[in-house]
Amino acid sequence: MDAAALYSISYGLYVVCSGTGDKLNGQIANTVIQVSAHPPTLSVCINKENLTHKLITQSGVFTVSVLSQNAPLSFIGNFGFKSGRDTSKLDGINYKIGQTGAPVVLENAVAYFEVKVNHQTEVATHTDFIGELVAAEVLTKDEPMTYAYYHKVKKGTTPKNAPSYVEEKKIEGVSKMQKYQCSVCDYIYDPAAGDPENGVAAGTAWEDLPEDWDCPMCGASKDEFEKVD
Ligand code: FE
Repeated sequence: MDAAALYSISYGLYVVCSGTGDKLNGQIANTVIQVSAHPPTLSVCINKENLTHKLITQSGVFTVSVLSQNAPLSFIGNFGFKSGRDTSKLDGINYKIGQTGAPVVLENAVAYFEVKVNHQTEVATHTDFIGELVAAEVLTKDEPMTYAYYHKVKKGTTPKNAPSYVEEKKIEGVSKMQKYQCSVCDYIYDPAAGDPENGVAAGTAWEDLPEDWDCPMCGASKDEFEKVD
């Protein structure tokens, strides 16, 4: 079996939120699909170990914010590589409480949906939550982020508890400059690409990065990076 075939499936990139009252959380998901038109019905697959899974199970609702292509890596990293058990991921984020009582992230989003769960299916490590659309709004005309764009252009990575995670071999560089990989989130600093979102020009060697530069995905410091062989 060639697991690389799985890379040919197209996805979007979303912030999925749930919870009510003072227990709110959000996480990155790429597995949102519309499964029926009448009534409009959406589904999302969430890892059973995630806090969002617990909150959807308790509240019976979830919201989906469709990320814009302009969403910075640090914003995605906040929702994708941190646990809501350790940190309040919605602090400092522009969001509102929707009709369902669940938070809706408005920042870096082109549209959002609110969903009331009416079916759920256990699938190994994940639960597929399916429900009826109760609210939806278009927020901007920006291009939505695809998963391919996130990987190829934004150089983003996939946490190990995502359904689409495939163990990646470290990719051999075309450039001769040494690449370094974040030991927390697997982000690779490639001197050929630099880190333009944070003012680091393409062609900047690892040694020339300022000492206070940190991982654009997860915020880990420079000393948590390791050489890519
Ligand atoms: Fe990182």
